[in-house]
Amino acid sequence: MDGIRREYSVLPKHPQKIDEILKPLILNDETYGKLKEKMRADMNMGLSTDRNQDADTKMYITYVRCVPTGSEKGNYLALDLGGTNFRVLLIKLSPGEEVKMESKIYMVPRDVMTGTGVQLFDHIAGCIESFMIYQNLDKNVAIPLGFTFSFPCKQEGLDKARLVTWTKGFSCSGVVVKCVAVINDTVGALMSCAHEDKNCHIGLILGTGTNACYLERLTNVHQWDGDDEEPREISEPVVINTEWGAFGNGSALDFICTEYDANVDNLSINPGRQIYEKMISGMYMGEIARQVIMKLVDAGCLFNGVASQALATSMSFRTKYISEIESDEEFDNFVRTRQVLDELHIRDYRLADCLVIQEVCQVVSTRAAYLAAAGISVLLDAVTQPEVTIAVDGSLYRYHPKFHDLITEKVAELSPNKVFKLMLSSDGSGKGAALVAAVAWTRSQAKEE
Ligand code: ADP
Ligand code: MG
Repeated sequence: MDGIRREYSVLPKHPQKIDEILKPLILNDETYGKLKEKMRADMNMGLSTDRNQDADTKMYITYVRCVPTGSEKGNYLALDLGGTNFRVLLIKLSPGEEVKMESKIYMVPRDVMTGTGVQLFDHIAGCIESFMIYQNLDKNVAIPLGFTFSFPCKQEGLDKARLVTWTKGFSCSGVVVKCVAVINDTVGALMSCAHEDKNCHIGLILGTGTNACYLERLTNVHQWDGDDEEPREISEPVVINTEWGAFGNGSALDFICTEYDANVDNLSINPGRQIYEKMISGMYMGEIARQVIMKLVDAGCLFNGVASQALATSMSFRTKYISEIESDEEFDNFVRTRQVLDELHIRDYRLADCLVIQEVCQVVSTRAAYLAAAGISVLLDAVTQPEVTIAVDGSLYRYHPKFHDLITEKVAELSPNKVFKLMLSSDGSGKGAALVAAVAWTRSQAKEE
């Protein structure tokens, strides 16, 4: 133990220089408060009719009007189309019982993914048919389906999204499927948790990207074009998909944007867009850390001023590394950090370098968590209930060792008058989609009777 302690006492070179390089990423509470104000103003603009086009956050109406009550029942299908994989799920709901789910992953061939919409939907329809045969489902009974489509899209009704122009159910080879809802993954997370916790009024994604949805009262939703759904009272809620990742597309985040953020943005496929998302989410966090690390190397503060070729390559520092490095405890000799450095072919390093790398990861992930907390705090202020559960989905939140605690701590500071908790959402895009379908189906059946 003595030996290790002595080695730990090897101090980083140029500590002042290190502080200077990290400083722009460390924001104080006043700054987070200012950020909240800007975000609130932008969201209000997004909710308005006349200024929506100037808003970064588009505040899309999802047409989801209520959360599940727990009394939903029946068989539902869900489709989850996100990355290259595509899932079909069968969900069985019965009141007071655990949700039963069966699912199968289908590949979406690359040429279909980049082909025409018709090809894509033909492929999807084929997968559904094969899934129904595999599950022995009665082809003659119409089965309601919810579709999680994790891309921004403006909806025109619960079952109509502009990106997919899909106004009628699938019909292929005698299989009857009625698509009753197209939902966003944030809404899936919200619905899935709300099934168990009636206080759940906010859904959040912290994965490849970041986004959030929440229940807003109709009075505040000026874009509401009044579909025929009940309830129509303006005090009643509708779920708004904020698409908050786009915050900062204008100049709202310029006041905190660092040179590292600017570099990441320039490297991305969509420069100038999704600025808030680029400061927070898993797709970019590793690269922000790498930008800082390279700056430290160049300043002679790390690895004797020499980077490996791997480290010098953009996007080589994966966000998952940050979770691993921050999982190292004080006296376990940086096992995980060393493993990451090995993977990056960095041969010559001291324990002091490990300490600095760990500090970089902490600073970058803490800023991300606090920025997300500021957004959550804005939504908490908008929700009228005193006690709110926030459903969270995404690998960044799930696997980062400190994200949950960091967000909780900062939200508590920024929204001192709210009682809240963050809850991990399990399979929102499957179970959540089926629940939206169940709620919509139950209502439409009730109306017909
Ligand atoms: P998606 O957002 O595409 O639905 P996920 O929620 O699984 O998928 O998020 C994937 C992202 O999470 C990856 O892009 C990666 O950046 C990040 N990620 C994956 N594993 C980890 C980890 N162990 N720690 C932190 N972030 C991770
Ligand atoms: Mg996801």
